[in-house]
Amino acid sequence: MAYSPATISDPRTRADARTLADDLLAFLNASPVNAFAVAEMEHTLREVGFTELSEARPFELRHGLPYYVKRHDTALIAFVVGDLSPAEAGFRIVGAHTDSPGFKIKPNPERVSQGLVHLGVEVYGGPLIATWTDRDLGLAGRVFLLGEDGRVETRLYRSSHGLLSLPNLAIHQNREANDGGLKLNPQTELRVVLGSVSDGLPEEGALRWLLAQALDVDTERILDYDLFLYDTQAPSYSGVSQEFIHSGRLDDLAMCHAAVTALAETAAANSSWTRVVACFDAEEVGSRTPQGAQSWFLPSVLERIGASLGDDREGHYRALAQSSLVSADNAHGIHPGYPGKAEPDHAPVLNGGPVIKSHAGGAYATDGYGAALFERAAKRVSVPVQRFVNRSDVRSGGTIGSMVATQLGILAVDVGNPQYAMHSVREMAGTWDHWYMTRTLQSFMTR
Ligand code: ZN
Repeated sequence: MAYSPATISDPRTRADARTLADDLLAFLNASPVNAFAVAEMEHTLREVGFTELSEARPFELRHGLPYYVKRHDTALIAFVVGDLSPAEAGFRIVGAHTDSPGFKIKPNPERVSQGLVHLGVEVYGGPLIATWTDRDLGLAGRVFLLGEDGRVETRLYRSSHGLLSLPNLAIHQNREANDGGLKLNPQTELRVVLGSVSDGLPEEGALRWLLAQALDVDTERILDYDLFLYDTQAPSYSGVSQEFIHSGRLDDLAMCHAAVTALAETAAANSSWTRVVACFDAEEVGSRTPQGAQSWFLPSVLERIGASLGDDREGHYRALAQSSLVSADNAHGIHPGYPGKAEPDHAPVLNGGPVIKSHAGGAYATDGYGAALFERAAKRVSVPVQRFVNRSDVRSGGTIGSMVATQLGILAVDVGNPQYAMHSVREMAGTWDHWYMTRTLQSFMTR
């Protein structure tokens, strides 16, 4: 089966799609790492009336009202309580992940040589390492301070400009770079330049000195940090009709944005079931953290929603038996330079619509019934759907779908928008696909 890019011909729809893509680009720009993405999603949800819950306090919920709960600042679950209790009508859930592959600053990062202070980083997940060289890199994440009252205080930090660099070795000193591919040893060659001692950077404790200045606190108050590199170049469009978007972290912040937008825009709509969006952390490192998809975060929140509305344990199991999950994580589009890397009959194109991912070995949660639910949702809003399977002679990637579906025992489908350069510092996807996916997720949750 050959796919082709679809064009949104209706001018009003096209304008709507472009506005949505602009909003996605602004979201990506404001979200250099996952804690910022969660803060942005929280802002969107609050603007349309979602109320924050704390996991440490009782859930006191009312039918028809919207809520959200965060875990450790990097994962978020938002939901609109249905008109019936979960035991009577179940949950419709969309899942995605907030983290992206990259580089995390080591706890004792500084070293000085040649008059430069440079930082050591650990590889987070599976980035295309070479794409991070010769970029204007920034630093972003969370800094943990000793509060005035003795508590640990969390502050979000983002450098205001390009701060760091990972310069390449010249071709004259690495003649094999274009033949064997650019390879960097993660222990010895990933030294990120922070600045020069001659320009006033202290030789010891340079990072804490810099953070203290940026956050306007005493250095002694900085207890610890979770900081990552990011590319400071703003997201942008390309193509004759600006039909492509370029940004870091499209995998999987584009799906977080689609899911949260779909839920926020329809917060006031009625449904008998409870609509849920779960954005997990740690997918790129196996999901085994307290805020990852293998944790108890989503199962406990779902059970507590039911309990708050009078469902008992029996009711919770009845709820799960009527529930379904769309796991949204981006897919690979067929690449013009490497068409042979795609399975020829299941080779999605950019701007051809959302992709349903299947794997007979269970790497994806999709089965025929789950796929049918997604196709029905897409059909209701006239969105084209594409199919993906891996070439039969390559190993499949995996995502949160099968973990969540197995844990909860619910029907599921793995989907995502097609993109190029997955895990590059700057990925590429289709402008119109974002609209297609958002409308389909909305249709899945509300119709
Ligand atoms: Zn992903």
